[in-house]
Amino acid sequence: MSPPLPRVFVAGHRGMVGSAVVRALQGRADLLLRSRDELDLTRQDQVEAFFQQERPDQVVLAAAKVGGIHANNTYPAEFIYSNLVVASTVIHEAWRAGVSRLVFLGSSCIYPRLAEQPLREEALLTGLLEPTNEPYAIAKIAGIKLCESYRRQYNSDFRSLMPTNLYGPGDNYHPEHSHVIPSLLRRFHEAKISGAKEVVVWGSGRPQREFLHVDDLAQACVFALDSPREAWDAQAPLTRSHLNVGSGEELSIADLAALVASTVGFEGRLQFDRQQPDGSPRKLLDSSRLRSLGWAPTVPLAQGIASVYQDFLQGEVRSI
Ligand code: GDP
Repeated sequence: MSPPLPRVFVAGHRGMVGSAVVRALQGRADLLLRSRDELDLTRQDQVEAFFQQERPDQVVLAAAKVGGIHANNTYPAEFIYSNLVVASTVIHEAWRAGVSRLVFLGSSCIYPRLAEQPLREEALLTGLLEPTNEPYAIAKIAGIKLCESYRRQYNSDFRSLMPTNLYGPGDNYHPEHSHVIPSLLRRFHEAKISGAKEVVVWGSGRPQREFLHVDDLAQACVFALDSPREAWDAQAPLTRSHLNVGSGEELSIADLAALVASTVGFEGRLQFDRQQPDGSPRKLLDSSRLRSLGWAPTVPLAQGIASVYQDFLQGEVRSI
């Protein structure tokens, strides 16, 4: 008889990241999933009861309040509060319930705005953050430090992954609150349908961004759950315990907009709106530590955007 599958709690399984983690863990784990109505992760009493009752073996902490540059700038209180409280509640109760391994997901915006590129893990806390998403970044830095502290004090095997900008199926297509890829897919698609001659792209078009398909991040999460402790700790020692997850595929927002336009089949002009913020000039991750452990991205950006556009079109059909 094969050994029982580990019981894995995926916190945030309805989100883009959590649902990709669930797809990646299918058949490899006994999944514990709770909707927001069943378990409010901002309520310590509910999280405590859940962990004490269910006693998961492992946890992937993918629950987070996320959004693009405009949402982060507009709702800073919601971003800092909910991300801080979810991280501290889940990590603390996971420790109390004896969870053997936890993977916390952060973001590349934890690094200083003007840190040397590509960003290495040791750039954390060496300078000022990008102001448009500082509250979110502070909450994610707290999550890293929670994992690190529980590891130091209690020897908990709590690991942190810092993904670059993500995209994939199940993304948020809100016209103002989403990230750049879903925003532009929707805007170019609507322009194509309406026959508009011009599409607005926020900012100067000059910022550089790296993008990773969410299925590649999900494989990194599985990898982080499976990697033996000694090998992991050699790359992520106590004093610098987070590891970057990026594709290495970087381009300017202007080039991204051109790629999205050609994927959608929009042939009009691009108008850059410099009244909108650019955010960080660049945030390319150095992911060599995770790669040296054996993880590698598999989805090229052009292919990933084409498949996400198909997903978007199917979503439109479903919503009719
Ligand atoms: P960021 O990496 O935290 O800045 O996240 P975003 O995905 O929101 O934005 C990335 C870059 O794309 C920024 O420079 C934005 O100004 C630019 N951008 C251009 N058009 C859009 C848009 O329609 N929506 C968003 N969210 N960003 C856009």
